[in-house]
Amino acid sequence: MDPRLGTRFVFLGPPGAGKGTQAALISQALGVPAIATGGIFRDAIARGTQIGKQIGQFVNSGMLVPDKLTNAIVAERLKQKDCKKGFILDGYPRSLTQAKALDTYLLKVRSPIDRVLYFKVEAPVVIERMGKRRVCSQCAATYNLVSQSPKTEGLCDKCGGALVTRSDDTPEAIRKRLTVYEQTTKPLLDDYGKKNILDVVNASASVEAVARQVQGLCLGTS
Ligand SMILES: [Zn+2]
Repeated sequence: MDPRLGTRFVFLGPPGAGKGTQAALISQALGVPAIATGGIFRDAIARGTQIGKQIGQFVNSGMLVPDKLTNAIVAERLKQKDCKKGFILDGYPRSLTQAKALDTYLLKVRSPIDRVLYFKVEAPVVIERMGKRRVCSQCAATYNLVSQSPKTEGLCDKCGGALVTRSDDTPEAIRKRLTVYEQTTKPLLDDYGKKNILDVVNASASVEAVARQVQGLCLGTS
């Protein structure tokens, strides 16, 4: 690893951009944790902490967890020992308010973000990727027609239920989700751009090609 490139990264991009996959690869290469808010929410809820109980109320009712709570739980996670060497934040911050809270916290502990990678992906690519996802109408098990197809076409391996496309995976729903995502993250990207720490990854490319770009940016290799 080239130490000049840093060990503290933020990966941004809409669902379907493949940033989770890339975050896992870089996390392994650098020996730093990949942190996604969904994961720490689930963890806090499972541990039954004070903050976990509050988050549980929002998650269970299908509501967005407010910025204040999200910022607090991310800061708590970053205090843990395994983040000393660095971290990859996957999908956080997602608004300017969250970014400011993160900056304030990291400034306090004197460990600012090194680079922000934005996984830019075209709508047709996400639509194609999401179009391969199927979910069991009975037990909610998930499948992917390319990488994880069921043994019998259209039927769940576990319970035999019919496999369906999730209603939020329709092309119209995906397009709408992408537009909303771009609108909310635009100010954030402008801000990181001004600070000269933003890189844009062409996430419409194949997993291998995206991995090469990300490795070049985070590890100095390709
Ligand atoms: Zn099933």
